[in-house]
Amino acid sequence: MKKISTVLLCLLLLAPLHFSQISRHSSAESAARPSSEISRCAADEAVKEIFLTFDDGPTDSVTPKVLDILAEEKVKATFFVTGRQIKGREKIIERIANEGHILGIHTFTHEYAKIYASSSSLLRDIEKCRHEITRVLPDYRGKLYRFPGGSFMHPEYREAVGRAGYRYYDWNAMTGDAEGAYTSKQLLENAIRSSKGKSRVVLLMHDGITKSKTAEALPAVIKYFKEENFTFSVL
Ligand SMILES: [Zn+2]
Repeated sequence: MKKISTVLLCLLLLAPLHFSQISRHSSAESAARPSSEISRCAADEAVKEIFLTFDDGPTDSVTPKVLDILAEEKVKATFFVTGRQIKGREKIIERIANEGHILGIHTFTHEYAKIYASSSSLLRDIEKCRHEITRVLPDYRGKLYRFPGGSFMHPEYREAVGRAGYRYYDWNAMTGDAEGAYTSKQLLENAIRSSKGKSRVVLLMHDGITKSKTAEALPAVIKYFKEENFTFSVL
């Protein structure tokens, strides 16, 4: 009974936090200011949840490999796609949706100077990406968004994005695949280190053209979180 009460308490404490907190803070901020509620619940196996996220696709070289691995491991992920890469890769977008993964928006151009020129410029780019997805998937109603570079790059645009009806998600753990030329073993180690002590993990990865090491590391990353009794969820 006590165990059940503890689990319920943890769930209640986590519920209002949900991902608004993760969305509001950068990975560095999250690491520097761990929530006491999350820390208290972290020890409880019952609430461990991971969200695998892939940015910067679709690509011919990496996205299909990632999808193959996810299918083999029977886990779902969230793909924040770059709109201008969709043309010619419609089949990959269809495959992501058909295999039960979630499509999110990562702007159309991903060009910082352009998208971060003003909030209207950013919203135009986001909308352009959404239209490109709906060209392939007419029923697409997704309103998930990830800021290129993270929302902490331009916190002044968070409100505009929210007002436009989008929910944005940052991350609180990463493989570091965009940070340097790591081996697949190092990518796994980075994922383990950055997620330590967290019961809800939003893991940042990339399926851009240069990220073959990410696909290489993915089976071991998934194995680790399975062994740690995490549930795999989508945003
Ligand atoms: Zn990106």
